[in-house]
Amino acid sequence: MRSSLSYSPCSEGVDKKIFAKRWLRASGSRVNEILLWKFIDRSAAALDWLVGLSEGHATAVLCENRLINPEIGAFPGDYYLLPKGDKYASQGGELLCEILEDALTRLGGRIYAPVTADYLEKDASGRVVSFIATAAGGETCRFMGRKAVVLAAGDCGADEEMLDLLSPVSLKAGKNLSLNTGDGQKMAYWAGAELDGLYWAPNFGCEAYGPYAFFFTAVNKDGRRFSNEDTSEVARARHCMNQRGGDCAYTICDDKWFEELQAARGVAGGPAIMPEQGLTKAEIETMFGENMYKAETLAGLAMKIGVPADELEATAARVNELAAKGEDVDYGKRPELLTTIEKAPFYAFKWGPTLRCTYGGAVVDEDMKVNDPDDRPIPGLYAVGANMGGFFAVTYPSALAGSGFGSALTFGIEAAEAIAKE
Ligand SMILES: Cc1cc2nc3c(=O)[nH]c(=O)nc-3n(C[C@H](O)[C@H](O)[C@H](O)COP(=O)(O)OP(=O)(O)OC[C@H]3O[C@@H](n4cnc5c(N)ncnc54)[C@H](O)[C@@H]3O)c2cc1C
Repeated sequence: MRSSLSYSPCSEGVDKKIFAKRWLRASGSRVNEILLWKFIDRSAAALDWLVGLSEGHATAVLCENRLINPEIGAFPGDYYLLPKGDKYASQGGELLCEILEDALTRLGGRIYAPVTADYLEKDASGRVVSFIATAAGGETCRFMGRKAVVLAAGDCGADEEMLDLLSPVSLKAGKNLSLNTGDGQKMAYWAGAELDGLYWAPNFGCEAYGPYAFFFTAVNKDGRRFSNEDTSEVARARHCMNQRGGDCAYTICDDKWFEELQAARGVAGGPAIMPEQGLTKAEIETMFGENMYKAETLAGLAMKIGVPADELEATAARVNELAAKGEDVDYGKRPELLTTIEKAPFYAFKWGPTLRCTYGGAVVDEDMKVNDPDDRPIPGLYAVGANMGGFFAVTYPSALAGSGFGSALTFGIEAAEAIAKE
């Protein structure tokens, strides 16, 4: 199975103004529009550059399944990286890193890893000139920036104290996949940077417990339906978190679920909704493992997943009623995705909200130079990726998916070009 990591460029043929409008709407207009338009105008070139670096050993393909679902309104600028030939072993976001690493070493560069940057240093003039780091063996080393130091240490999702202060909703996800502890943001703050205002934008997914959430009926721990299941991954995660004990939910379906999934190909779509690569029923069940439950009766299924049997039976009865009617008057799910829960055995697939990243960082100017609270660049200091503020706000706009990697690469190139000119 391919992972779902993708990359978003605004390539030719997409309506840039609509992209900008959607981004501003999703972010509550709290982002820096200069950065937004830089991303819009330069991200396609950034992706071309990356694919070019692979020297013909990789390609980028459009994630078309995401475009199918009108409810999500996905944008046709969400690409997936695939290897060509056997030079590269990975796909998606991992391939992005593999291509960069390969090119860097090919061009004579050297990667020092694992090395943890601890703090920045300034010279007497106040310019950031170096950082002190700890190497794997525990030795301390100093890295001097020939022209500048670039902060690129990712988000702060693994630092509970930062989340509590800057993005408390991020703490509500059932699982946390972030590994970064906001070191770049902390170093920027020490150097006198202005940081993004409250609250930092969480990127939620639904990978916890199981990789797919499907469009079938989803119930909370009370056995009740709680939302339109046919929506974006971030929205599903949010709706789930709003439930009592919202670390997980269950997708309920019956014996015909796999055939219904196949039939919905071309109708359903969006991240984590459909098995993208023609997986078999057995493969999907294996992926869910112990998070897939099966029983001959709804009461038996309710007992297995720990929800009240009468509530689950009432939910199924209501869902069957809505399917017969052909209209979801409760939550407005598209008629083509309505189905019944009537044929034993019955299934429950456990899923839940995952925190992937929390976006918020140092306020930068249009060259990715880190600004102080008076909007003056701190000499010698740049920030990119999740260390850079001003690009994401409120939420990760999943309809404009791939923007995490997309912005990290695009703004990384922009910073490099600005530094080259210093
Ligand atoms: C499960 C999951 C799925 C995702 N799917 C997508 C997707 O499909 N498309 C998309 O665009 N985005 C996706 N994202 C988001 C994407 O991964 C991030 O937006 C992106 O990686 C941010 O790039 P970055 O360079 O800022 O940080 P990172 O990629 O996190 O890189 C930061 C690096 O800095 C290192 N580091 C941290 N602290 C230090 C330190 N003190 N010293 C030295 N090094 C340090 C880290 O080890 C890491 O290697 C996903 C994230 C997750 C977790």
